[in-house]
Amino acid sequence: MMKRSKIKELLKSPPFGKEVLVKGWVRTKRGNRNIAFIALNDGSTINNIQIVVDTASFDDNLLKEISTGACIAVEGMLAESPGKGQNVEIQARKIEIYGKCDAETYPLQKKGHSMEFLREIAHLRFRTNTFGAVFRIRHAMAFAIHKYFNDRGFYYLHTPIITGSDCEGAGEMFHVTTLDLKNVPIDTDGEIDFSNDFFGKETNLTVSGQLEGELGALSLGEIYTFGPTFRAENSNTPRHLAEFWMIEPEMAFYDLNDNMDLAEDFLKYLIAYALENCTEDLQFLNDMIDRDLLGRLRFVLDNEFVRINYTEAVNILTTSGRKWEFPVGFGRDLQAEHERYLVETHFKRPVIITDYPKEIKAFYMKQNDDGRTVRAMDVLFPGIGEIIGGSQREEDYDKLKNRITELKLPEKDLWWYLDTRKFGTAPHSGFGLGFERMILFMTGMSNIRDVIPFPRTPKNAEF
Ligand code: ATP
Ligand code: MN
Repeated sequence: MMKRSKIKELLKSPPFGKEVLVKGWVRTKRGNRNIAFIALNDGSTINNIQIVVDTASFDDNLLKEISTGACIAVEGMLAESPGKGQNVEIQARKIEIYGKCDAETYPLQKKGHSMEFLREIAHLRFRTNTFGAVFRIRHAMAFAIHKYFNDRGFYYLHTPIITGSDCEGAGEMFHVTTLDLKNVPIDTDGEIDFSNDFFGKETNLTVSGQLEGELGALSLGEIYTFGPTFRAENSNTPRHLAEFWMIEPEMAFYDLNDNMDLAEDFLKYLIAYALENCTEDLQFLNDMIDRDLLGRLRFVLDNEFVRINYTEAVNILTTSGRKWEFPVGFGRDLQAEHERYLVETHFKRPVIITDYPKEIKAFYMKQNDDGRTVRAMDVLFPGIGEIIGGSQREEDYDKLKNRITELKLPEKDLWWYLDTRKFGTAPHSGFGLGFERMILFMTGMSNIRDVIPFPRTPKNAEF
């Protein structure tokens, strides 16, 4: 048996004149009575390899069964192609059909399906050029993230997916339970009695690995998490998923400036990595999906991010002369329209906003001396809005405890978190990058549902 070659390798350094074996899915078949041309794709690259079939040497019935979507194995000689549009072709000697594909019912016959339609056939959309490109880039970014941190001595820390603390503070949570939903036990106070539940207490799916990540950083030094997170927020936007992946580095001895420096360097590294390693897929997306994609990636790579504090941001917005759908003013959270104005209209480059009012940020953020603001940072990107949220953490035991009391958070669930501030506390910082928001930016796709293989959103958990 000959060893299978990947199409990517054959196109990169073609062993002309050699017999090769390729396996893949038929993208198109055309030709006439004497000769057929099959464009074959095996997922290793966006490019197809051309198979040339001398119809006289093959059984008619076999050739008929080779239609768009079919899976075949082809043995033949690799030759220089005289045809336009490719320089390599395989002159088929032997063809085996692994899987026929019924032309009548195969949903991917026509070109130019809408993204909405393709979402309904998410099990097959991998076979389109667009989704092939998106998911190869997604892979490359996941790999680059691990490489970035590993090269810098960060440790990959696995934080729990099922969590017993409901004060991670980042949004609505999904309950995890084995209680009989038709017969939920109620205690004497009329509350649900979780003592008989699987874990003997109320549990949820995590909205962030940060609190546990901090525990790791306060001993290992620099850690990062990279895992799924879940938010039961009913936000039907092109930028929110109920299940998404987050990268959360957490570093001892970093102040907010160090944190911002890391975030900017990290994002630029990922862009540079994609430009270097995903050239063909990016070019395709630039040509077919978003004509500004490559220009925007290079622009963000080449320019320093603007750093301003929240108060300055509010001033810019209130003096902009714009009419806002959501009001602007100190103490109000910035909405997507405000974030995008600052990035896309005012500064025309990525912006990091720091020092938000404490009321609109989480309890664990380091309190500034002004008593009003905290050492938070949000990184805002063109076309995306918030791509990173982070902060320097409050390392002072008393200040942290007071804030927990002020906000009436359940201290009994946070004893372990408070312990770190009691036993050798240290200044530390961290942030969370939404992986899919990064992939949105990197691919020029416009809906977050199209950069994760199987999106989970309100009223949708198909596949
Ligand atoms: P937003 O205001 O956009 O809802 P957030 O303030 O809730 O975001 P954080 O809690 O700071 O976000 O989460 C860190 C990062 O995770 C965000 O910067 C974003 O990139 C990403 N993120 C947050 N919520 C979602 C979601 N529902 N779907 C996909 N990514 C998300
Ligand atoms: Mn949110």
